[in-house]
Amino acid sequence: MNKPKDPTDRPSARFPASLHQAKPAAAKARPELLRPQRLLHEAARDARLLSTPSGLGLDNPAVRERMVQRLRGEGVRSEPVLQAMLRVPRHRFVDSALAAQAYEDTSLPIGLGQTISKPSVVARMLEWLFLGESARGHGHLGRVLEIGTGCGYQTALLAEVAQQVVSIERLRALHDVAVRQLAGLQTPRCELLYGDGMLGHPLRAPYDSIVAAAGGEDLPQAWLQQLAVGGRLIAPARAADGRGQVLVVVDRTPQGFRRTLGEAVQFVPLKSGIS
Ligand code: SAH
Repeated sequence: MNKPKDPTDRPSARFPASLHQAKPAAAKARPELLRPQRLLHEAARDARLLSTPSGLGLDNPAVRERMVQRLRGEGVRSEPVLQAMLRVPRHRFVDSALAAQAYEDTSLPIGLGQTISKPSVVARMLEWLFLGESARGHGHLGRVLEIGTGCGYQTALLAEVAQQVVSIERLRALHDVAVRQLAGLQTPRCELLYGDGMLGHPLRAPYDSIVAAAGGEDLPQAWLQQLAVGGRLIAPARAADGRGQVLVVVDRTPQGFRRTLGEAVQFVPLKSGIS
């Protein structure tokens, strides 16, 4: 793999404070801090215990407003991201039995052992894309490659803040669900592909922003090759320092790649091939 040689290949001040303040000991004590996925039986148990707290219908915008208020309180500052989260109905992307939990800060099962990531993790990853050079210059994420469409929730958010979104999913059944969901919500500017996202999608490259919702040992070479100069990539990957899976941000500059490591996360595995 093309290991960036830049000395910033370590946690740095360029990475959001909130993403690398967690000390290893604290992370150990609270392993769910940034965990975007969780076990099916935990989610099913919570679904039985919870009901919509306010009694509001889930289509009521006030429900999403509360989620966004919470995200603001947790330090999410990117207005385009927060506005997109106000608009996209997360409960439409999960099974109706779990819909009451859709605005909790929790991941939820979407079938085939996969999960929709928790809202705070999605918000922070998109916020970090917005801090890339190209996005800061243009005020939007430009052309985006997403790996791991899942149920399509993050894809719908991306469509709100990008010029064009190409999203790849390796599981046919989930790809089909996302196609239906996004068509139902009339989400514009999205191209949903069934395939192996480890290969990227060279046909539409280069991408101003690349985001992956599944993590492997390292970042596939294809993603780096398909990142535009000035573009930014964010993905989970295994840290070389033994910390396990961490968020990795890569900026492509005219001089090469600059890589920054964030704190520990637990995303579903990035797998090659299709199924
Ligand atoms: N953002 C999604 C999260 C889905 S979980 C959502 O909002 O629902 C991560 C997804 O990555 C899973 O659906 C998994 O099947 C997919 N995935 C894993 N490896 C992949 C690969 N090589 N190519 C495409 N998708 C992949």
